[in-house]
Amino acid sequence: MNDRADQPQPNEAQYRIRSRLIHGRSHSARWDYNHHVVPPMTASATFRLDSVHRGAKGFEDFAREDGEHAPIYIYDRLGEPNGDMLEENLAAAESGEMALCFASGMAAISAAICTLAKLGDHVVAHKVLYGCTYSLIRNWLPRYGIDAALIDMTDLAAVRKAILPHTRVLYFETPVNPDMRLIDIAAIRKVADEANATRRPAERIRVVVDNTFATPFCQRPLELGADLVCESLTKAIGGFGTDIGGAVIGPKSMYHDLILFRKDFGGALSAKSAWPPLVYGLPTLATRMINYEKTAMHVAQFLEKHPKVERVHYPGLESFPQYELARKQMRDYRDNSAPGSMIYFVVRDAEGNGKPAERLIDWAAQNAYTLTLAVSLGQIKTLIEAPYSMTHSAMPEAEKRERGLVPGGIRLSVGLEDWHDIIADLAAALDHV
Ligand SMILES: *Cc1c(COP(=O)(O)O)cnc(C)c1O
Repeated sequence: MNDRADQPQPNEAQYRIRSRLIHGRSHSARWDYNHHVVPPMTASATFRLDSVHRGAKGFEDFAREDGEHAPIYIYDRLGEPNGDMLEENLAAAESGEMALCFASGMAAISAAICTLAKLGDHVVAHKVLYGCTYSLIRNWLPRYGIDAALIDMTDLAAVRKAILPHTRVLYFETPVNPDMRLIDIAAIRKVADEANATRRPAERIRVVVDNTFATPFCQRPLELGADLVCESLTKAIGGFGTDIGGAVIGPKSMYHDLILFRKDFGGALSAKSAWPPLVYGLPTLATRMINYEKTAMHVAQFLEKHPKVERVHYPGLESFPQYELARKQMRDYRDNSAPGSMIYFVVRDAEGNGKPAERLIDWAAQNAYTLTLAVSLGQIKTLIEAPYSMTHSAMPEAEKRERGLVPGGIRLSVGLEDWHDIIADLAAALDHV
């Protein structure tokens, strides 16, 4: 028992999210960490059970857990304290009822889609997706009898047309990786509601949003009408690039299926990988994001004026084609406009072969102190890459072009360096195009 159990506990719900991501729950039956300023990293794959009766109760309670009673921990793949603490904080960050952590963003995305769709069902997804999500939907789901239509989900008429009687999931990223296009979450919700009005509960369509690019600091899809959020913890939520992880956040009604899926397919987040986002990532998310956004705005404005740059996609620029939607949908916890840390830009390329962008990135990789050629995003270092040939190479050439991805496109994940230095390095790299 801890000393504070009998004392009145601060009611964390009355505090702002930014404070809650630093303190978590001050008191929880799930884990007593009142005496730790930093929660301990757990490192026990299995848990001592006092009796067969207690072991049996642990198995019986599993997946029914209501979050209020002390759980009986059995084995890490079923649940463990570090992941549980992270889940409480992620649920608060995304304003969801519950969160479940997974071994990677892809483990979270596959769990979300595969608990909602089964043999004979159909998924509608946006035509541009993170490369591995594209591959999951195109290469793996059909093997299990789940078809998909990849369409332009910025076009609501196209979404309505793509919905079939056996459609169960509408899936998209917003902003889209890598081209930063936005999809209107509230509008997609309405389309789903129209279709669901005449459907029985088991046949209803769910809206699933990948919130990796925005992070919950910049956008809360559940508040805008999404049924489930999935995201990679590897990126800006983890923030420091030390660990791989993912999460699904949504209503309690989805908890049972998702945790059973995680138990049996095995994509549980390890305690050691839950600890860094819990201790470093989420508590600094707001601070990092506010800095990223300031820098990203300076960088985007610099690129926009540069004669060698054809176009810049950053939701904070007034020239951004969906600027109004960005202002409506991407809001931080204080309701300020929050366009995020990701920029996509296209270098002028008379021949359309991507050589100028390649020269820029290669020069930066060799010479620029603040620009690191690497995939991933949302770290303290600025990362640059060529989505066409790197992160989005799973998509066939013709499809990429048809869907608006061009070889000259460059994805920039702004870091925490002094923005003057990032701009100076980009200016020098552009001189070498
Ligand atoms: C990186 C990424 C993922 C996958 O996350 P992992 O943690 O690498 O599995 C999913 N969606 C988006 C938009 C991403 O950028």
